[in-house]
Amino acid sequence: MKTKAAVLYEVNTEMPFRKSVPLKIEEVELMEPGIGEVVIKVMAAGLCQSDISVIKGSIERPLPMIIGHEAAGVVYKTGEGVTGLKAGDKVITTFIPSCGKCIPCSEGRPGLCEPGVESNKKGELFNGGKRFNVRNRDVSTHVGVSAFSEYTIVSENSLVKVDTEVPYEILALFGCSVVTGVGAVINSAKLQLGQTIAILGLGGVGFSSLLGAKAAGASRIIAIDINEKKLNMVKEMDPLIEVYTPSEIKDKNILVDLAVETAGVSAALKLGFDLLKRGGRLVTTGLPGMQNKIDIPIMEITFQEKEIKGSYLGSCVPKRDIPRFLNLYEKGLLDLDRLLSKTIQLEDINEGFDDLMSGEYIRIVAKI
Ligand SMILES: [Zn+2]
Ligand SMILES: [Zn+2]
Repeated sequence: MKTKAAVLYEVNTEMPFRKSVPLKIEEVELMEPGIGEVVIKVMAAGLCQSDISVIKGSIERPLPMIIGHEAAGVVYKTGEGVTGLKAGDKVITTFIPSCGKCIPCSEGRPGLCEPGVESNKKGELFNGGKRFNVRNRDVSTHVGVSAFSEYTIVSENSLVKVDTEVPYEILALFGCSVVTGVGAVINSAKLQLGQTIAILGLGGVGFSSLLGAKAAGASRIIAIDINEKKLNMVKEMDPLIEVYTPSEIKDKNILVDLAVETAGVSAALKLGFDLLKRGGRLVTTGLPGMQNKIDIPIMEITFQEKEIKGSYLGSCVPKRDIPRFLNLYEKGLLDLDRLLSKTIQLEDINEGFDDLMSGEYIRIVAKI
């Protein structure tokens, strides 16, 4: 069948994207689903900073590729051997397929699934191979999802079924921002009731972390971003959250139990480390280029028992955590409506990424 999709043919560092147009909207051939695979009618897909990392080449992926990794949709058709899903089911994608059998999966760490990471690296589906084709050229799948397409083929292992009336543009956020942001606070930083926490960077992930920290009962939440507009938004949402720019917080003598860095900037990670109390834990979800490093005094780690921890997929178990987080949203305990800055059409995706880069928006979602 044919599907309209946003195809990335080559790495593009030229901004603005509205001029250089790295993503071409094209009609692409979608093959039949293989064993254990599902055709999804994508309803909404979020624009994420890590998509920009792929466009700019700081995350290397096999091109051409249909990018996008945060989506919600409906099962259109199932391939052979699919047992857990049927046509009409609502699903949220996850950006690591999990086999359920490898050691990390067995240990409850599906975000580190070994075959899942391998197939993602190759731009293939979990069972191998590519399912998109344009002018007789195979097109890679982005982390098993390829969300910026009307229809996509996804392994059953990359999907979480949900039973809800929540609109798709909100549901899509659960695919990356929410699992990553809320998960970083709950699963990676392991926030305990009454602890203090700093969140560095207020994009979709950072904002989700903030909401997660609120829901989990942090006694003091510090939000840090270079953009004053975002800080004001946070202040308006909850006057109890303290907001600072990085330069403002430096001479405030504030120390916290936990810090979560979501900006993907070395200076933000270093600031997070400096804000830790003795015995504190710093978590990062950032994905800057491979050349980005930080310089920290090792003695401080030893003497003060400070921890630095990476968080991928928010250390979530998607089948467990997505329904839990969704339930919190439905009960009004995770105010994700504030995350959604605006919705766009698939055709406006290049402009959408420019807007995301401007730092003025938290999350932009394409309705597909
Ligand atoms: Zn993402
Ligand atoms: Zn696995």
